[in-house]
Amino acid sequence: MSESMADRTPRVPAEVIAANIAGIRQRIAAACERAGRDTSEVRLLPVSKTQPVEALLAAHASGIDRFGENRVQEMVAKAELLHPELGIEFALIGPLQSNKAGRAVEWAVEFQALDSLSLAANLDRRLQARGRSLDVLVEVNTSGETTKHGLAPAEVLSFAAQLGAFDSLNVRGLMTIALPGPDQGMVAACFEMLRALRNRLRDDQVAGSDWPELSMGMSGDFELAIEHGATCVRVGTAIFGGRPPVAG
Ligand SMILES: *Cc1c(COP(=O)(O)O)cnc(C)c1O
Repeated sequence: MSESMADRTPRVPAEVIAANIAGIRQRIAAACERAGRDTSEVRLLPVSKTQPVEALLAAHASGIDRFGENRVQEMVAKAELLHPELGIEFALIGPLQSNKAGRAVEWAVEFQALDSLSLAANLDRRLQARGRSLDVLVEVNTSGETTKHGLAPAEVLSFAAQLGAFDSLNVRGLMTIALPGPDQGMVAACFEMLRALRNRLRDDQVAGSDWPELSMGMSGDFELAIEHGATCVRVGTAIFGGRPPVAG
């Protein structure tokens, strides 16, 4: 278990987390207003990776009941600590190795980083055995950075067409991590690329889905993402404060 979980003291006090969530909700509403969108079209997915369960409980008190985690082991550890009766759910937003697919299926209600057919088949098989389905988003590498996961934009349409074969995968949309950095034009280009891909998939009802979801935008760029059509913004540091450098 990571140090952040062993150390159960929240880094940011509960009242600060509550104030941060209120502030983010206001900024989401203002961005929606500017974009002529309804606030109900955009969901806030707080990203709780590296944060102790007390931080999640503090956010839960502000009405948050689904959290994004990018590592299966950490997600499972938190899910086990937080009683399911609390109604707290997890979205896995990071890459998933096939040997952890079983654990992921056990605990995640949503997987936002699907980028391989073998993983899709693996998840589908495990879900069938459990008699349930899983919301999935296909991750697209819109920035072209080689360090990023996700499909190349050119691969997305043919990949998506094959997802119809997996009955237990509830295909909901696309996810991306935009180029980091201050160049708003380049960040916006990543968001626009994702939207254009989604619109094609939606228009053709690929895999029998309407492709309603565009998960894009993080602490530094969620308002811009909303202006470009985001339906899910994944916000970590702006709610929970900084994270220690990632080890391994
Ligand atoms: C960590 C993470 C986020 C949140 O990033 P912040 O900049 O802290 O808001 C969003 N999406 C993914 C996939 C992440 O891994």
